[in-house]
Amino acid sequence: MSLKEFIVKELPELLDLEPHKLEESYKKGNLKFYQNRFITALQFRKAVGKIEAGTMVSLGEEIQVIRGFPKIRRTLMLKEAIKSHFQGEVAVEEKMNGYNVRIAFIDPEIVAFTRGGYVCPYTTKKAQELMDLTQFFQDHGDLVICGEMLGTNNPYVSHYYPEIGELGFRIFDVREKLTGKPLPINQKRELLNEYNLPPVNLLGVYSIEDAPTKILELVKDLGENGREGVVIKDPQMEIPPLKYTSSQAHDDELIYAFKFPFDLGQAFFFSRVVREGFQSYEMQESEEEMKQRAQRLGESILYPMVQTIKHVSTHEVAGEDLTMDAESPEEVEEFLRHLRDLGVVAVLIKYEDGKAFIRKVHQSTTDKITNYLNGGLY
Ligand code: ATP
Ligand code: MG
Repeated sequence: MSLKEFIVKELPELLDLEPHKLEESYKKGNLKFYQNRFITALQFRKAVGKIEAGTMVSLGEEIQVIRGFPKIRRTLMLKEAIKSHFQGEVAVEEKMNGYNVRIAFIDPEIVAFTRGGYVCPYTTKKAQELMDLTQFFQDHGDLVICGEMLGTNNPYVSHYYPEIGELGFRIFDVREKLTGKPLPINQKRELLNEYNLPPVNLLGVYSIEDAPTKILELVKDLGENGREGVVIKDPQMEIPPLKYTSSQAHDDELIYAFKFPFDLGQAFFFSRVVREGFQSYEMQESEEEMKQRAQRLGESILYPMVQTIKHVSTHEVAGEDLTMDAESPEEVEEFLRHLRDLGVVAVLIKYEDGKAFIRKVHQSTTDKITNYLNGGLY
């Protein structure tokens, strides 16, 4: 069967979608043929009907579907949102700040996908160094492990956690391959425990009446410890989860965005400020507390931007340096090619003692700042 036939005949049935929708998506380039040393597949660059972006259809001997990881909606007002969204009780898990990974067994290999459905060579290797996944997938080949890759030597999102250090993995969901259906919280935790696999922290299970106050306390505490926030889940996982994050996490993202104002500033700015506004209101802050929040917010915008302007004024590029483990220069090259596929401009600065130092270049920020420094008009 040709690829085209597969897309209009077999795939619509498998995914319960109308053939013309898939064909259209394929024609627009949103459903793409994807092949590398790990997999031959179809990649959903955009959602089609209820099939999420990031979904992969592996075209090996056996057709396998690995559903995309669904978007998690955000609440701005915990009290009202929890009451109207959930029933009875909620499980509150820590939200870890790294990058989203799905791990699945695609015969004969265990493969790790990043959010958009790309097989990341680095993540595929590291996930298996960090965890012993063989037995789990031998027994549960139909399940997908969804988790966050974390730590400072993390080539996508570098963040320090004392219990993680340079690199680590935490699992937040276990889902069925074809349907994407998640296991209930307890079942997930028992299963992970059985295979000695690391779950995210479960911070507590609360009635929907008690949850908002508890979560505000938890999130305040998490923020003060440099941690991101929480994901609030229905213990049965029948209702979609919600996320809620700390003030410090919002500031950290602003600091990052305003280091590269002309690449990230606009996209990040408004929503982080809105989150701060509602959080300050819901926490019923005193004048003094609000003033501190305002000051942190302002500093998170202005300081990194001025720092970058200074940096570019010395004829340097606005770049983001990262460190990653790599066994050989070839391994680094493969990862850089992978980044290029994602549209990220990155160069190798140095390879030494099994570590690669990579610079991601933010071109618009570099060019625009240079232009304005030379008197260009805004
Ligand atoms: P989204 O499209 O899901 O909103 P985003 O890129 O904006 O994604 P985030 O704001 O970081 O992402 O929030 C969602 C992500 O949080 C999930 O995709 C997942 O990678 C991550 N995450 C961390 N901890 C958890 C957890 N305990 N439960 C669920 N997701 C978690
Ligand atoms: Mg995240």
